[in-house]
Amino acid sequence: MIFITGDVHSKSMGGWEQKKVGSEVKAAEEYLKILKKNNLSCTIFINGKCFENEGAEKLLNYNVELGGHTYDNFGKMNLLKSYKNRKLFNCIYGSSNFQKKDIKKTKKSFERFGLKMISWRTHCFGSNEKTFKLLENVGVKYISDLLGEKPPFKKGEVIHLPINIPVDQNTIIYGKLGPSNRDPFASCTKGRVSPEEWFEILKKRVKNNENEGIASIVLIHPSTMAALDNFRLFKKIALFLSKYESKKISEIIL
Ligand SMILES: [Zn+2]
Repeated sequence: MIFITGDVHSKSMGGWEQKKVGSEVKAAEEYLKILKKNNLSCTIFINGKCFENEGAEKLLNYNVELGGHTYDNFGKMNLLKSYKNRKLFNCIYGSSNFQKKDIKKTKKSFERFGLKMISWRTHCFGSNEKTFKLLENVGVKYISDLLGEKPPFKKGEVIHLPINIPVDQNTIIYGKLGPSNRDPFASCTKGRVSPEEWFEILKKRVKNNENEGIASIVLIHPSTMAALDNFRLFKKIALFLSKYESKKISEIIL
């Protein structure tokens, strides 16, 4: 079983991928078109802000589940704030009070379009145990924040779906390969392999998981696939994944 997920950010983020791609919502639409051609289900975790004036509602024309991904990536974040949040709250998402407000705001943006926010991924996987409790309190039932080879599990009323395939953005290098750490589960700045190598790792892991009856939770960013090669690699990935059964996050059965 494959769970394909993608994270989509508001245009206020301004990273280099986004500068190259333009609207991430638009990239997500291209991404969903490719998945549709291959009969694949998918979950998109999206900033609440994308529903304000970025046309995120058009994604509803596709067979996709939309989950929350914070309102706008913790507001204005910089290195100092990120450091402070980690130091003070042991969590980049900030204080419980900030998280609570941000989760509610995100939920409201969903509700404006008649959507129930029952699944969630924190931007940068920046959550802590408190985040999970706050999400549970507002009716979120599926969270995909953890990384590593851990099977989905239930805690309280929430089912956690850890991402068990190396993440595209953290793993791929766009230019020349550096000599540093090539461990695909290493942090954002360290884990670098070529896109083709990453695809080989993905294929191997998915095949292994299928053989062993383990669900594969995959995170592939629409903006990364657009910035990399205008979805050429993603089309190959979708074709490969189409051999397997896929589901949306909230369709998981434990
Ligand atoms: Zn994100």
